[in-house]
Amino acid sequence: MISVDQAQALILQAIAPLGETEPSTLETALGRILATTVTGKLDIPHWDNSAMDGYAIRFADLEEEPVELEVVETIPAGQAPQKSLAPGQAARIFTGAMLPTGADTVVMQEHTEQRGDRVKILQNPSLRQFVRQRGDYYRAGEPLLKPGQRLGAADLAVLAACQCVEFPVYRQPRVAIFSTGDELRSPQEKLEIGQIVDSNRYGLTAFVQGQRAIPKNFGIVPDDPAQLKATMEKAIAAGDLILSTGGVSVGEFDYVEKLLEELGGEIFIRSVAIRPGKPLTVAKFPGNKLYFGLPGNPVSALVGCWRFVQPALKKLSGDAGPWAPEFVWATCDQPLKGAGKRDAYLWGTLVATATGYLFHLAGGGHSSANLVNLAQTNALAIVPQGTGEIPAGDRLRVMRLQT
Ligand code: AMP
Ligand code: MG
Repeated sequence: MISVDQAQALILQAIAPLGETEPSTLETALGRILATTVTGKLDIPHWDNSAMDGYAIRFADLEEEPVELEVVETIPAGQAPQKSLAPGQAARIFTGAMLPTGADTVVMQEHTEQRGDRVKILQNPSLRQFVRQRGDYYRAGEPLLKPGQRLGAADLAVLAACQCVEFPVYRQPRVAIFSTGDELRSPQEKLEIGQIVDSNRYGLTAFVQGQRAIPKNFGIVPDDPAQLKATMEKAIAAGDLILSTGGVSVGEFDYVEKLLEELGGEIFIRSVAIRPGKPLTVAKFPGNKLYFGLPGNPVSALVGCWRFVQPALKKLSGDAGPWAPEFVWATCDQPLKGAGKRDAYLWGTLVATATGYLFHLAGGGHSSANLVNLAQTNALAIVPQGTGEIPAGDRLRVMRLQT
């Protein structure tokens, strides 16, 4: 049994980014990972422009206020100035409009009084006030966006502003998913005695979609070595990463480990000091493929995804990291029990309060089979191995759940 940190380190070591790219556009790139350094061809702002509605002036014209200047033209946004300012002149200007040559400062209209073609400056601005200067925010040719970052709203707005309409992103990982177990039926089927619904496949598919990877569904496989081996083989061929649930414990019908070896996989994790989720099996296959044999218990399967598969998928996707899940420090509002030699991951809700985060344990049993109280939680609180109990009011590390 290895520690959670060791397991994460081994998994990240075993995986390399896919590295393959495909073209993307402003319309399709949300949530994708940028695969190149983007360089813009335009300075931002493209030219000196006004940050206010007011008057473009020459700072040198100002004396003791109020100075009176001649208004020689009006410059709305989107129009080129027709005149350059001579001493003693001003131009009516609006937010975003280009500054005329000769002007170096804008005075906001609230500090002026216009009468006919004369404007009185009631309160002097400082030099260059309210002028957004060409290239202030960005100079053409400099790196604008870095690769390895997931594209969000602001990134896409910046790409659009730079007229960068097509750019490469990394291809999304394909994740093969299947469930193993004679007792499993789909949610639409009538259950006979002893049968249960294969809920794992839905949880895992949603998790994979939430990570913006592409799920490939290989269904339910009975506990039959020949059928299991055939499905494993197909899944390994089809996926960049493979997730199966069940069949990794020590029971008589748990064939996954043996078959992974038969198929040429190099198993480098067989059990991890975590509760729930100890019987995690991870194997490496040629072609940079990782196979995660997750436990069948529904909570164990999802906790395994959040804690171990998510960092792997992130690295595989080309995300520059950090790959580890997101942890915060929180106070617990009731005592939390440890799990002996394993780290206990206890599910519940994390709430931001005025003074920090508060963790509230989900009610009901914390069994790895109790999927019911896992629903509508958003975090896993960690009681480290060797800790008997964390008293109410103490602080502990809590992992936020993303999907
Ligand atoms: P196993 O790891 O195959 O020994 O399964 C452990 C427990 O998880 C058993 O109670 C199974 O019935 C249950 N289980 C296994 N696979 C699934 C699944 N796909 N959906 C829901 N429960 C499952
Ligand atoms: Mg089973």
